[in-house]
Amino acid sequence: MVEAILGHERNIAFLQRAVAGGRVAHAYLFYGPGGVGKATVARMLAAALLCPQVAAGKPCGACDDCRLFARGQHPDWYQVDPTGATIRIEQVRRLQQILLRRPLRGRYRVCLMTNAEAMSTEAANCLLKTLEEPPAATVFILTSDRWHDLPPTVVSRCQRLRFDPLPPETVASWLVQRHGVEEQRARLVAYLACGSPGRALVLAGNPDLEEVRRRVMETVAELPAMGIGALLRRAADLAEGGRDAVDYVLGILLWWYRDLVVWHLTRQEAYLRNRDCMAQLQDRELGTAGLLASLVAVMEARRQLLAYASPRLVMEVLLLRLAEVIPTDGATGSGGAL
Ligand SMILES: [Zn+2]
Repeated sequence: MVEAILGHERNIAFLQRAVAGGRVAHAYLFYGPGGVGKATVARMLAAALLCPQVAAGKPCGACDDCRLFARGQHPDWYQVDPTGATIRIEQVRRLQQILLRRPLRGRYRVCLMTNAEAMSTEAANCLLKTLEEPPAATVFILTSDRWHDLPPTVVSRCQRLRFDPLPPETVASWLVQRHGVEEQRARLVAYLACGSPGRALVLAGNPDLEEVRRRVMETVAELPAMGIGALLRRAADLAEGGRDAVDYVLGILLWWYRDLVVWHLTRQEAYLRNRDCMAQLQDRELGTAGLLASLVAVMEARRQLLAYASPRLVMEVLLLRLAEVIPTDGATGSGGAL
């Protein structure tokens, strides 16, 4: 069976109507934040296209094709993922070779390319030729977290579907019900993952979750008095687990500063996500401008991380910027210019 899908009802209904009505595009681009369910919906579409007993755009889940697909063994299903950080031209060429043949089992064959923005320029140009003259009975699904990095020529050949983050409450109850995550932990990781079930699931499985959170909060408290040497060591320490670890730390910081801003403005516990850390929240008085400068610095760090900056460098720059924000009411440092 295809895995249960969380959210994205409109996109799913749209695709099911397309399958049922025989109006499937040659190429789709599913874009939106990472881990939000793009590849899952792509697999749902593929299952529907490969199932001979598809009804109302939904795969039957019981036939040979559905079973082969569920085991990842359907011969008309191809997936191309980046090798390292890049999708290389050889990968696209190999796919094109395969597409010279007819589908092996049924009416369609389906090619999923994840993180399509990772295509090298040569790979994208090579794929473009195929998209311009699409082979019969072939559906391409490209997914991307950063579709603006794709060549416009590729984007314009695809039907585009946007995938939005899900409400954290939806992600949290999905974690509890389908993955048996304890409720408070589910709520915490759902917020940290900013509406991305994939990322939330990875976070929920991290045994060091609470420990990392404690260290991040400790770092924030110590920053103003930290010397440059200690600050750089701490940055290296927090970035030790690479990109995912830094993404997690940034998620914690984002919600932390968000809570500080909300607390500063409202003094109402009900609006806070880090309610279990009220004492530390009340400790920290930066003034609205300082808090907002910190929040912006964290968001900027997230953008840099998404743009494949070195995780350690992102962490160093961020801690330097946060340390510059002077903890007195209404005043900031140099605004974090670095
Ligand atoms: Zn079937």
